[in-house]
Amino acid sequence: MTKWDVVVVGAGQAGCAAAWDLAAAGQRVLVLSRPAGQGKPCAGGVTAKTLNRYRFSIAPVVREVVSTLWVGRFPAGSQALQAASPFCVMTERAELDAFCRQQAQEQGASFAETRGIQTLRQDGRSVTLTTREGERFQASAVIAADGAHSPVRKLLGECRYGGAVAIEGCVPREQLSWYPGMTLDFAAIKGGYGWLFPKGDHVNVGLYVWRQGIASPGREQLDRYSQQQLGVRPSGVQGYPLGTWLPLARLCQGRILFAGDAAGCTEALLGEGIYGAVLSGQLAAQAILAGQLASYSGWLAGWREEMATVEQLARLFYPLMPLSTRMLQGNLGETLVEGFARGLTLGQCKRRWRGASMVGG
Ligand SMILES: Cc1cc2nc3c(=O)[nH]c(=O)nc-3n(C[C@H](O)[C@H](O)[C@H](O)COP(=O)(O)OP(=O)(O)OC[C@H]3O[C@@H](n4cnc5c(N)ncnc54)[C@H](O)[C@@H]3O)c2cc1C
Repeated sequence: MTKWDVVVVGAGQAGCAAAWDLAAAGQRVLVLSRPAGQGKPCAGGVTAKTLNRYRFSIAPVVREVVSTLWVGRFPAGSQALQAASPFCVMTERAELDAFCRQQAQEQGASFAETRGIQTLRQDGRSVTLTTREGERFQASAVIAADGAHSPVRKLLGECRYGGAVAIEGCVPREQLSWYPGMTLDFAAIKGGYGWLFPKGDHVNVGLYVWRQGIASPGREQLDRYSQQQLGVRPSGVQGYPLGTWLPLARLCQGRILFAGDAAGCTEALLGEGIYGAVLSGQLAAQAILAGQLASYSGWLAGWREEMATVEQLARLFYPLMPLSTRMLQGNLGETLVEGFARGLTLGQCKRRWRGASMVGG
């Protein structure tokens, strides 16, 4: 058995953010993760507020810098919302994760692969984990950053929550007769949207539904959407749930803290999850460094409150289609992209928009 200060389960955005902070503070950190494989299904859009949260620049893995958002179906039904400065960058998720992992390694974090965690036991002072390979690790705290399916949460007998769901695929640029800008199309699917994200050598195309059960975005639907929009069917299609249950989730169980999608930190309206993953990973690390594990939930309370507000927004926004799209194509959308360009969160943009409409009206 090897002993560590902290074991992090999962080497995605939450796990790498936590490992970076812990290692930078001199902790002995081990990140246990599944082999990278094809990479986590993700469109790789990283907003300005997330860029502000990283402890390092992600410039080496940026493929496109975006300051215009197209809302609606291209070309006739869509409207360009132009921000004064970039509000988002496009990355390939496997490249982004590998880069963040390398940054954490440079701070001194260790990484090891496993097919999964078999057992977890904790007493008042430490947590012991056994992997499926039979290896044992002991640490004074564990961060479960193992994604929306969170096997650690299941091992601890925590209940399952229903979140959002999305499916994505890629179309190589050489197969395209036109190269789209970043597009969100709310007519593509009930209770969600279709997206086109330009990535330089290809376009990422996908479908998002804000709550499982409203619609099931499957392979056939994605093929049809991609065919309509780009004239080609995508390859490398993968679907995955998104953790949008932060308002309901327990964030801490003894010496085990949940971060990222495992904690439900993704916002429900558009499914942006990288910001919540980085934020919660960093806060979990800070709680451990401060020796105040139980404070973690309180430190994440602001984000939890915002996620509850954004969920209410999604409840209102999607049933009101197509009116919501028209609103987004106007004042609301402009406030949103401007706010995003300034590094604001959705909740902060909403407050600005309400403020502006009250002044205007
Ligand atoms: C199709 C799709 C598109 C998306 N597009 C965007 C986008 O453009 N922008 C955005 O901000 N968000 C997007 N999201 C949401 C975003 O991908 C997630 O919110 C984010 O990845 C959460 O990060 P995480 O680190 O919490 O979890 P994950 O990224 O899921 O990482 C979990 C890690 O845990 C590991 N793991 C899992 N099980 C085990 C185990 N048993 N043992 C060890 N390790 C394990 C995995 O290998 C992985 O390394 C998208 C989601 C989907 C599904």
